[in-house]
Amino acid sequence: MLKETGWNLDYSYTRLPETFYTRTNPTPVQSPKLIKLNESLATSLGLNPESLKSEDMVSVFAGNDIPKGASPLAQAYAGHQFGHPNMLGDGRAVLLGEQLAPNDERFDIQLKGSGRTPYSRGGDGRAALGPMLREYIISEAMHALRIPTTRSLAVVSTGELIQRETALPGAILTRVAASHLRVGTFEYAARYTEKEELKALADYTIKRHYPHIEGVEKPYLLLLKEVAMRQAKLISQWQLVGFIHGVMNTDNMTISGETIDYGPCAFMNEYDPSTVFSSIDRQGRYAYGNQPNIGGWNLARFAETLLPLIHDNQDEAVKMAQDEITNYINQYQRNWIEGMRAKLGIFNAEEEDKSLVEDLLNMMQKHRGDFTNTFRSLTYEEYGEHALFNSTEFSEWSDKWKARRKRQNQSNDDSQQLMKDSNPAVIPRNHRVEEALEAAGKGDYTVLERLVQVLSNPFDHDNIQEEYCKLPESTNIPYQTFCGT
Ligand code: AMP
Ligand code: MG
Repeated sequence: MLKETGWNLDYSYTRLPETFYTRTNPTPVQSPKLIKLNESLATSLGLNPESLKSEDMVSVFAGNDIPKGASPLAQAYAGHQFGHPNMLGDGRAVLLGEQLAPNDERFDIQLKGSGRTPYSRGGDGRAALGPMLREYIISEAMHALRIPTTRSLAVVSTGELIQRETALPGAILTRVAASHLRVGTFEYAARYTEKEELKALADYTIKRHYPHIEGVEKPYLLLLKEVAMRQAKLISQWQLVGFIHGVMNTDNMTISGETIDYGPCAFMNEYDPSTVFSSIDRQGRYAYGNQPNIGGWNLARFAETLLPLIHDNQDEAVKMAQDEITNYINQYQRNWIEGMRAKLGIFNAEEEDKSLVEDLLNMMQKHRGDFTNTFRSLTYEEYGEHALFNSTEFSEWSDKWKARRKRQNQSNDDSQQLMKDSNPAVIPRNHRVEEALEAAGKGDYTVLERLVQVLSNPFDHDNIQEEYCKLPESTNIPYQTFCGT
């Protein structure tokens, strides 16, 4: 059975000092049912999708059974939540194991919503079906948008109700990640363990994610640099598609550079840097326009944990770490402008490109242009009725943009192709996601299946996608997302 399914689980994490985890099994559930299976992801992990649908394997996804030889664990971590330090840890998740894929890559297989652990604090260790399906839809959409992210292998319903504001159907998501190492894991090490343990964690991280810096001079400073560069890339990619994470606490920032923790996240419609969807983010700490800064703030927390490893002299260490935070900001800017050039069909770099982009964004904000659809309209130069495109300032801007596109060697066709490849036709629009979840709540999964399918090829620009580009009928009611997942 095991061979047939393809599980090939390892536990490198348990070679870390014991303070970093607690072995614990998931809590069984009443009557699990497979709701969604990601067959292509399964195949790429070396798992057999047909076998994963069997009753035995659904039992594994539900936590009722564990594969032979498996030894699940919950990870310890801390973090800054909305700026305040807390002890956290996997309070409703266990690492089933690390799957060694056919390409020799290692992936964490985690059950989320699998019951209480020693890190649950007051929580029930459970998750509701709606939010787990939401994570499935959005994380897979992010992957299709070529943005590094944890992925979703399966969702099972538990047959049990969980108590939130109302009673909701419970579910467990099987999450796949390069690892679950977070900035918060390092904060845990720095705050609650000795230097030796911190060093073991840093060495483990380097081996797992940045093997090319193993054994070089100043490896821990380089670790900071590498993580900063991955975040500079990741957050620029978020900005370029209008993704708002919503809860960029340090425990929700990975060391691998993958997007993690799809709680109150959502995509922006009308362009406005102050956009916030999360009901608990009242100060706008995690607003769209603030994400790059928060990335820097979180990296500074990461840097602090590494100081004792970076240099024996604290002042020296601080100076070196600060340089890396500055590098992050500069690299983020470079990534962002590069991405924006591509969105406008520009291959080469000119000094004034930044103001060209800023002028466009300012117009979008003023005329409430939809972020995704504005770039889509520019891609086809099909402008329709929208006030933005019928303004004088737009026609002046458009002349400048056209002239700019001529100042490169590539043809207009190449330029348009670049735009098609850089501007998604479809994103997981909030009303579409809600519609799919509402139908799912009534037992109809066809709407969700269709949405997941459409979102799997966001750069196809085909007719089927047309319908999914439309905005909701009424945008008067502000969309709100909730953390209480
Ligand atoms: P999150 O908001 O998902 O990033 O979670 C923050 C912390 O709360 C983590 O330590 C989670 O494990 C924990 N947590 C969230 N929901 C629950 C729950 N229902 N039961 C126990 N712990 C939870
Ligand atoms: Mg989290």
